[in-house]
Amino acid sequence: MKNSRVLIVTNDVDAGAELEQALLHARDHFFRVERCNTLLAALERLKQGDVDVVLLDLFLPDSSGLATYEVVAKLVPSAPIMTLSTSENEDLAISSVQQGAQAYLLRQNFARSLVPQSVISSLLRKRLEEALFIEKQRSQIALSEIVDGVISADALGNVNFLNATAERMTGWSSEEARGRRFSDVFHIVDRVTGEVTPNPIATVLQEDKPVAVRPQSNLVGRDGVGIPIEDTVTPIHDKYGRIAGAVMVFHDVTVTQAMMKKISHQANHDYLTDLPNRLLLNDRISHSIKIATRRNTQLALLFLDLDNFKLINDSMGHAIGDKLLQSVAKKLVDCVRSSDTVSRQGGDEFVILLAEDKHAEDAAITAEKILIALAAPHYVAGHKLHVTTSIGISVFPVDGDDADTLIKNADTAMYLAKKMGRNNYQFYKSEMNTRAVERQFIEAHLRSALEREEFVLYYQPIVDLKSGAILAAEALIRWAHPDRGLMLPDQFISIAEESGLIVPIGQWVLRHACRQVKAWIDAGLPSISISVNVSALEFRSTGFYENVCAMLHEFQLKPELLELELTETALLRDTDASAQLLRALKLIGIHLAIDDFGTGYSSLSYLKQFSIDSLKIDQSFVQDVGGIDNEGIIVNAVIGMGRSLQQRVVAEGVELQGQLAFLNKHDCEAGQGYYFSPPLAADQFTKLLQTGISQTLLN
Ligand code: C2E
Ligand code: MG
Ligand code: MG
Repeated sequence: MKNSRVLIVTNDVDAGAELEQALLHARDHFFRVERCNTLLAALERLKQGDVDVVLLDLFLPDSSGLATYEVVAKLVPSAPIMTLSTSENEDLAISSVQQGAQAYLLRQNFARSLVPQSVISSLLRKRLEEALFIEKQRSQIALSEIVDGVISADALGNVNFLNATAERMTGWSSEEARGRRFSDVFHIVDRVTGEVTPNPIATVLQEDKPVAVRPQSNLVGRDGVGIPIEDTVTPIHDKYGRIAGAVMVFHDVTVTQAMMKKISHQANHDYLTDLPNRLLLNDRISHSIKIATRRNTQLALLFLDLDNFKLINDSMGHAIGDKLLQSVAKKLVDCVRSSDTVSRQGGDEFVILLAEDKHAEDAAITAEKILIALAAPHYVAGHKLHVTTSIGISVFPVDGDDADTLIKNADTAMYLAKKMGRNNYQFYKSEMNTRAVERQFIEAHLRSALEREEFVLYYQPIVDLKSGAILAAEALIRWAHPDRGLMLPDQFISIAEESGLIVPIGQWVLRHACRQVKAWIDAGLPSISISVNVSALEFRSTGFYENVCAMLHEFQLKPELLELELTETALLRDTDASAQLLRALKLIGIHLAIDDFGTGYSSLSYLKQFSIDSLKIDQSFVQDVGGIDNEGIIVNAVIGMGRSLQQRVVAEGVELQGQLAFLNKHDCEAGQGYYFSPPLAADQFTKLLQTGISQTLLN
């Protein structure tokens, strides 16, 4: 503003001089003053573009009247122009102001000290106008570009502005809405109750303070459609702090809401089956416990673990495994009431909350229903899959009064169900906990037992019942536990199976058994074969076949000297894969035995199909014979069957002379049992091989 350049355009020399003097003598301001006396000269000067204010006489030698103003204003639209006028043609001066001149000065005032002040004001005003224009531009662009809706009202609560978003969401154009009551344009109802919410603008105008984000509102547009919004309302004040209106900013929360809903669903559900997850289940259990406590009723938890899922998953691939889990999930949901909760804990574990059980028996009924439903084949991606489940049940309040305890105890009961042969259900009993603790102890120690070389193999002879010759040795694992002494397989094999540790343990057994029999051969002892027990899981583990081949190769062992003992249950699961593997093993010359024959499915068809070499009659049958009342029908039948299928029949658990006599009478080929020898450590078995079985035992 300092050093403003003023161009005085007049042909009136005196007037020009007076003005110039007045400006040059201005008190607080320094003006650079130039003068022109024709329009042409003025235009030439103005073209340079550095003049800040023009004082323009409308009557010049080369132009007169309003046209003078118009020409100049057109050339320098941004410079303020003040017209100079005599009182006779003041009308014309007024017209110039109406056309955009900043002001006019009357001839009689030219010499006054007022002149500098009015020049400064017009300069200021022009600048303010420009600044305001830009400011307005800025806010208009900002308001039309932002995604939020903006609607403002004056101090009386009448709408005076809507931005584009607000126009779209309300269905009102800014033009139509202007001047109307805010509540006519902006309808808000409570999202939950549907009631009309009080007009927030009125509140803000009345209370003169902002209203922060108000959730739960639905904006009802002109078309009657409700859009969930969140809004804030802020009062506007004038320069003196008086309330001048209010601005409401709001936005559509449909997407945010949907996302929140989705996120919360994801947080509470299993991605694969869409069943409630652990988190939601715990919540439901706690809630149900409260209700059951109040009503004095019971509730039950079913803990399920699929029996052979891991096998299917490993052999058929995870995609099929996933589909199977989805199929299981669906069947489970179909087995319970809608008020019950089926949840997936992860892996192949499911927990079901039966919230309205009156009696524990209700849980048993549901468990039975589930066993039947799941056992029916699952059709997955063109495959027909069979899966069974083991179920543990805990009941509130007897088995625990919080979610964690109830789940833990149902889990414990589930382990018993597994132990009891799978595909069954068991109720929790408090003494199970000691078993669970024991189980955990064993599992934890099993892991390190392999590394610490704590396993040992014992060998039990399989004896030719006619000649007494030792035909084979069965390798039986023992665990030389540092604190507990020699532990028998029954104490740890099933745990090793459940934890998958059976695979490395089985590899260890196979290697040591092969090495031992090789050592006996190398020592020139009577040639025998070695029998190795293989559990189902191990049999089906990847690389089993390759490992067997590797062992034969490593110890240069003839394949027919190795016999693998499998149980019927192991063979009958997933028969196609079993058959293939068995054929492969047979092809290289390995012998196969069915262990504990008679305790499993006893499906005779597979005996032929799999070309089994030996049948080992379970000791429970053998121990029954030779007594007074027992005719040994089963043993007899098995011996006959073995003969017709050309299989060696081995009687397990021969303890007594009478049993041997029975077996001999029925032409059973081989036997194994304490009667001949208990399982022995390797060096003792070596001695037995040297001496042979005492002939006195055979008579
Ligand atoms: P199995 O294969 O049927 O082995 C025979 C079991 O009967 C052995 O028990 C043996 O000590 C016992 N036994 C032998 N003669 C008699 C007798 O006259 N009377 C009685 N009452 N029992 C007799 P053990 O060693 O405790 O093994 C139990 C089971 O553990 C085995 O049954 C087998 O299924 C499993 N097992 C043993 N070693 C291994 C192994 O290395 N791997 C796998 N996967 N399982 C094994
Ligand atoms: Mg065996
Ligand atoms: Mg056996």
